[in-house]
Amino acid sequence: MDCNPRLLLFILHLLMSCVVPAFLTIYPPNEVNLLDSKASQGELGWISYPSHGWEEISGVDEHYTPIRTFQVCNVMEYSQNNWLRTNWIPRQSAQKIYVELKFTLRDCNSIPLVLGTCKETFNLLYLETDDDQGSHFREHQFLKIDTIAADESFTQTDLGDRILKLNTEVREVGPLSKKGFYLAFQDVGACVALVSVRVYFKKCPQTVRNLASFRDTVPIDSQSLVEVPGLCVNNSKEEEPPRMYCSTEGEWLVPIGKCLCNPGYEERSSTCQMCREGFYKSTHGNMECSKCPPHSFSHHEGSLHCGCEKNYFRAEGDPASMACTRPPSAPRNVISSINETSVILDWSWPEDTGGRRDITFNVLCKRCRGTAANVSTSGTLHCEPCRSNVRFLPRATGLHNTTVTVGDLLAHTNYTFEIEAQNGVSPLAFKMRQYAAVTITTNQAAPSPVTVIRKEKTSRNSVSLSWQEPDRPNGIILDYEIKYYEKEEQETSYTILRARGCNVTLNGLKPNTAYLLQIRARTAAGYGATSPSFQFETSPDSFSISSENSQVVLIAISCAVAIILVTVLLYVLIGRFCCRSKSKHPDEKRLHFGNGHLRLPGIRTYVDPHTYEDPSQAVHEFAKELEASGIAIDKVVGAGEFGEVCSGRLKLPSKKEICVAIKTLKGGYTDKQRRDFLAEASIMGQFDHPNIIRLEGVVTRSKPVMIVTEYMENGSLDSFLRKHDAQFTGIQLVGMLRGIASGMKYLSDMGYVHRDLAARNILVNSNLVCKVSDFGLSRVLEDDPEAAYTTRGGKIPIRWTAPEAIAYRKFTSASDAWSYGIVLWEVMSYGERPYWEMSNQDVIKAVDEGYRLPPPMDCPATLYQLMLDCWQKERNNRPKFEQIVSILDKLIRNPCSLKITANTTSRPANLLLDRSSAEVPSVGTMGDWMDAMRTLPCKEAFSGVSYSSCDTLAKTSTEDLKKVGVTIAGPQKKIVSSLKALESHTKNGPVPV
Ligand code: AMP
Repeated sequence: MDCNPRLLLFILHLLMSCVVPAFLTIYPPNEVNLLDSKASQGELGWISYPSHGWEEISGVDEHYTPIRTFQVCNVMEYSQNNWLRTNWIPRQSAQKIYVELKFTLRDCNSIPLVLGTCKETFNLLYLETDDDQGSHFREHQFLKIDTIAADESFTQTDLGDRILKLNTEVREVGPLSKKGFYLAFQDVGACVALVSVRVYFKKCPQTVRNLASFRDTVPIDSQSLVEVPGLCVNNSKEEEPPRMYCSTEGEWLVPIGKCLCNPGYEERSSTCQMCREGFYKSTHGNMECSKCPPHSFSHHEGSLHCGCEKNYFRAEGDPASMACTRPPSAPRNVISSINETSVILDWSWPEDTGGRRDITFNVLCKRCRGTAANVSTSGTLHCEPCRSNVRFLPRATGLHNTTVTVGDLLAHTNYTFEIEAQNGVSPLAFKMRQYAAVTITTNQAAPSPVTVIRKEKTSRNSVSLSWQEPDRPNGIILDYEIKYYEKEEQETSYTILRARGCNVTLNGLKPNTAYLLQIRARTAAGYGATSPSFQFETSPDSFSISSENSQVVLIAISCAVAIILVTVLLYVLIGRFCCRSKSKHPDEKRLHFGNGHLRLPGIRTYVDPHTYEDPSQAVHEFAKELEASGIAIDKVVGAGEFGEVCSGRLKLPSKKEICVAIKTLKGGYTDKQRRDFLAEASIMGQFDHPNIIRLEGVVTRSKPVMIVTEYMENGSLDSFLRKHDAQFTGIQLVGMLRGIASGMKYLSDMGYVHRDLAARNILVNSNLVCKVSDFGLSRVLEDDPEAAYTTRGGKIPIRWTAPEAIAYRKFTSASDAWSYGIVLWEVMSYGERPYWEMSNQDVIKAVDEGYRLPPPMDCPATLYQLMLDCWQKERNNRPKFEQIVSILDKLIRNPCSLKITANTTSRPANLLLDRSSAEVPSVGTMGDWMDAMRTLPCKEAFSGVSYSSCDTLAKTSTEDLKKVGVTIAGPQKKIVSSLKALESHTKNGPVPV
């Protein structure tokens, strides 16, 4: 080589410092290299012509990476034409290629002694061919791309040194059409070092935009954009067909359309990835997965929605983003306002809405037998769905407001309303139903209006009218209000009259005048609606009876009176004759009776009114007929089988007015009903005892038919006790029980078997005196809501009835004693329902197997023992009422004896006890035992005796007890067995109960 070696070294030095190391070179992703001289580690093998022109030189960069460069520097010689041709470069898919040259070029001025031969440019050329032509090379075949000049040959440093600068030039070539091409570099006398040659074309590289993947795309020509369809990435769905345009510069332009991640997937790094645990996505879209809403969870990746926690639900229309919810709690603060036979129910929203706002309310109406108190204490007593004619305003279900009006209920009936709050998830959780219940008793409805009014007689100054009782009197009509006025005066002045019956005569009217009149009925519930206006006219002045007419009328009236008198006389005579032959003397009838009891001579016995052929005769024998005018009804206090029970006042001639209860027989009764209704009076009228409800008399000759009894302010015993739960002392309770026992003793002495002795049939007055009531025969039981049909037919109040009476209808005073034991239990438990919710069948079975009710809470042991004695299976072993009275009397005299209770903490209060274990509890000390025994009939006997030791007591036998006056089988056994237990206790430790 002719070149100055120092110069070359200088060039090389510069080259080494300027070359970018090949391994560091990172090209833009849209550039695809067809040739990169720096990537070649060995000789490039390019053709150089003539051979002393371009020279391939190997070197290393600062990282010792070998690089190949070409240089030429024949600046000292004229007519240089040095060619360097690359190898054949396959075009691939490129249409337009780019040639990037990195080179240094010496400034001719910097080379001393060069004489006009020095050049500062070189030429870049190319040749397209379809195949590699090997070393075959023809200059003229090449087409020139450009003359390449250096931007700046040297750069002056501050120190005056001049540094060679690396130039980079890029040239476009194309469009190309053949399979490949060569590049050539023509030097015409410059000092050039070609450091690197890179040939590339541009493409739009594979990419993902809007979740659509676009393949590698090579632009077609320099003018147009290439439209490329995209493909949705995995787990996504096309929303709008994705497209993009690839520019000639290899850039993606104008993305159109997009893909959306499937439910359960979210966009992460241009892909659709599954939602993580605890997250969900329910729809297509590129939003992120959401955290599970409250009360829900997702235990898997890729959840479309979150499952609800236990007892939480999602209604059908609930979005997945909504928290899981639950049914609401029960409505609160239910208030009922009763207005006759309708009730307005108001309540508050439930405390817990379950997390929802779509709350509605349903009201379920149930008609219940028994008293309101009865229902609330023992839960669900004899309730059945209300009839369909009960009216709800606005409606019964789907209420949005917290109030409803219920109308058309029956009068004096117990209803329970269950108010339930519902929300959208309630149908999914029907087991979680919660409701608030309110029990009410309806009052009496006012009477319906009088509709039929008739004019009976008219004169100049008066008119007689009659009318029909309202269709629905809804109680006893106390009186009618009659309002009338002259038609022309338009109600500016009117007159009001009252009438007890259904007719009235209006006097003092103007002749020949039109009047309007309205009537309304009044019951204890108030006035009913007024009748439509009724018009009548008085007679004109000219209308009067002439003297001739009046004579005719007088004769007619005289004849009528004579006929009536003769008829009455005949009737009385025939009646006397018949009675003598048919009717028996009451005493005679009494012989029919006795219920198997041995009657003592001289003691009155009870007579069954049904033995009378004409039961109304029995009524008049045993009950006093009262004048309706002496009775004033105040208000309704209860509902009997035959009609209302009212409170009121009775005024008998020359007697003080007294408070009374009035039972009425409602209209439309049959003969049998009338007989049955009055039978109670016939029975009651035979009794005269402070603990038996007293009959004041009956009204049978006018309507309504009534039975009038003494008034018992505190109503029936069961509801009274429930109302005053735990409010009485033991002595007060024993006092009440004593009264009932005394009344029953009287009845059994009379030979009357009650058959339906129960707390509900005992009435209590203001002094807490209890009186036995509800008398009758078969109807007593028909009437009793507790009575149930037995397999042998007939209705029996199972829970109160002795086993032999249930099994074969053996009703005696001993079966009444069993019932008394139940009443005793009811009283001591303040109106608890015997055997609670057990079915009648289960009660029969349990009692038959020897189980008995357990002692009520805090029940004195002695009273529980008395109950157990009353519940002896063998009826002859049950105490007689006389004995019961005397036991209770003794208890009253020794109130301390009530202190020992029969409860033990280990004994569940609602389980029946096996009779063998159902005894008074064992006592710990001698003192306790003595206290317990004080309650038994032997107390007085023991009190006078001093026992030296337990042994002495234990040796006491039944005979000994008889001697000291203990005569009842139960207590005798109890004392003896307790003594034995005590003996064993003192010897061996506690005795199991
Ligand atoms: P009865 O005909 O015994 O079923 O009576 C029905 C209801 O009327 C009873 O439960 C009592 O509340 C009430 N009642 C009956 N008789 C009287 C009375 N003499 N005094 C007060 N209330 C009574």
